[in-house]
Amino acid sequence: MKLHEYQSKRIFAQYGIPIPRGEVATTPTEAREIAARLGTRVVVKSQVLVGGRGKAGGVKLAATPDEAEAVADQILGMNIKGLTVKKVLVDEAADIREEIYLGATLDRARRRVVVMASAAGGMDIEEVARQTPEKIIQAVVDPFLGLREYQARALAFGIGLRRDLLRDFTAIALSLYRAYVDCDASLAEINPLAIDAQGRLLAVDGKIVIDDNALSRRPHLADLRDEDEEVPAEREARRFGLSYVKLDGAIGCMVNGAGLAMATMDITKLYGSAPANFLDIGGGAQADKVAAALRIILADPNVKVVLINIFGGITRCDEVARGILAAIDQIGGLKVPMVTRLVGTNEEEGRRILAEANLITATSLPEAAQKAVAAAGEEARR
Ligand code: GDP
Ligand code: MN
Repeated sequence: MKLHEYQSKRIFAQYGIPIPRGEVATTPTEAREIAARLGTRVVVKSQVLVGGRGKAGGVKLAATPDEAEAVADQILGMNIKGLTVKKVLVDEAADIREEIYLGATLDRARRRVVVMASAAGGMDIEEVARQTPEKIIQAVVDPFLGLREYQARALAFGIGLRRDLLRDFTAIALSLYRAYVDCDASLAEINPLAIDAQGRLLAVDGKIVIDDNALSRRPHLADLRDEDEEVPAEREARRFGLSYVKLDGAIGCMVNGAGLAMATMDITKLYGSAPANFLDIGGGAQADKVAAALRIILADPNVKVVLINIFGGITRCDEVARGILAAIDQIGGLKVPMVTRLVGTNEEEGRRILAEANLITATSLPEAAQKAVAAAGEEARR
């Protein structure tokens, strides 16, 4: 779960990380009032859960309250990477001289949290990571010791930080690491960590991503979820206990088990197509859940075929087959072809039920994938 910039920065502030003064507005008038209260130049920032807001025109400076109102009017309602801006953060503008990157994330290969810093922070950090990875300095954290002060100092030296900022930088890095751990985050990032004209460090932007699996034990963080900001399909999926991630291909996949789902996605590529989504319907295959999954898959206009790949263990394949038919009924019929592969307990019976309903059936995964790719191709030509 991603937190908004304003939410992330408030958490950072609780850990003693310096952030600009500011408040959230949902209307241009509110933005003007906040700017007037702050009594300084402000920066008006779209609060949407995607990166690159600056480049998309979603971050703008304003010298006066009137200007803040005008700029907020431009930004509110703006579409940034498919998300509509409903809130803006109005912050006291910083007089930025340098932009540092500082972030903590999980390095799965090392099985450690790494804290990264770069002097080349700001809007092009992804480019820096790609083109000149040596400009990103890393500290690998021992989980039992946590981030050590000497490691934070090594980051500071590595990015050539001014000596007079060493103490503050070290404190910020340690705080960021503690916030990361306390939030069960998978990412906690300050980009930029600005050096302002007065030579102070300031977290101008903030981003925290929380591990969804930890939300049950972090209810105060779960409460921060902004349902407005979720892709509708993802919200619906969560409600039905489905894990769903939208992708760009034409083959809508419905699979039980995350590993099998990934194998299914891979094999659509092997046969020259691509998955429209990742979708794990989990255990069981009750009609309601299958229907919800189908609705979600079919709401995506790119989907040219649905590929169902189910391993029936405890849930018998004939039950799954009946669940699929009931689900198709519930959603009022199918507008694209459906390829089904059921294996496991009672699979023949399951296949027979689906074949009688004129669905395309397959026994092996390659066969299912080939049939799905072929059907998607035909569908696209229609
Ligand atoms: P992002 O593009 O979504 O990462 O949004 P940021 O909050 O990082 O803002 C993008 C860029 O806008 C930053 O890298 C800064 O260069 C600039 N910016 C943001 N806040 C301020 C500010 O208070 N003062 C100035 N001068 N620039 C700012
Ligand atoms: Mn940023």
